[in-house]
Amino acid sequence: MEPLAGPSERAPLIEIRAVSRRYVRGVDEVHALERVSLAIPAGRFVAFMGPSGSGKSTLMNLVSGIDRPSEGEVIVAGQSLGELTEDELADWRARHVGLIFQFFNLIPVLTAIENVALPLLLTDMPKAERLRRAETALRVVGLEDRLHHLPRTLSGGEQQRVAIARAIVTDPDLIVADEPTGDLDARNAEAILELLRSLKNDFGKTIIMVTHDPRALRFVDEAFHLDKGILLEGEEARRADQAVQLAAGGGLINVAGGGR
Ligand code: ADP
Repeated sequence: MEPLAGPSERAPLIEIRAVSRRYVRGVDEVHALERVSLAIPAGRFVAFMGPSGSGKSTLMNLVSGIDRPSEGEVIVAGQSLGELTEDELADWRARHVGLIFQFFNLIPVLTAIENVALPLLLTDMPKAERLRRAETALRVVGLEDRLHHLPRTLSGGEQQRVAIARAIVTDPDLIVADEPTGDLDARNAEAILELLRSLKNDFGKTIIMVTHDPRALRFVDEAFHLDKGILLEGEEARRADQAVQLAAGGGLINVAGGGR
């Protein structure tokens, strides 16, 4: 895989302009996000952090075209996602976004290489080429000796590597990871963060990660902090960063999120 030739370092790959997302729940309206604006340049590794219910997943779903805002605009690689029909959006997602989940979401009856090749079934690529690309992606994540293993015969860290290989096999501009270290022990969590950072450094990928994990701060270029649907800025954002750093130093893994 070559580094992306796409947007220059300066042009933001992602622009979120005054985005709000409200849900109706019974008679109540939940303000999941309120007028959030931010820009993420191409080739950056960023984290969305904040307590449970602060809007992190909502924001991630808007950026990856899984959901649409109630107001405002989401632009990724020059494409305003609001202009796309549902079918176009699904197609756009398949070509531009690689998704990574907390619980890996591998198909248990398929081997590592078959799992990784799955997203390529949506293309017209011949089978031999699909398997060749899947093998390359597994090599990138350091699993070239596990190609034909079933998920249950792999460790949690290895399963997450397979899931990362599946996310990069289509060579997407954007990798979106939802709590990728949430189900891993400390050693595997660090290895996965290191791997994500190397995808940015070696292949120019842009990576957005929703996380509660204070260790993430050591690996990302920038953390965006949300609280009750609002993006913290200036002094508030600086204080949130410090609180997470303190949590990381003190080994308090969930201070940035969870039960606050
Ligand atoms: P986080 O990822 O930070 O935990 P979420 O983005 O999942 O937060 O949720 C933000 C708020 O929006 C919460 O109050 C949540 O209950 C609400 N919410 C999220 N999705 C829905 C939905 N589909 N329907 C109703 N409310 C929702």
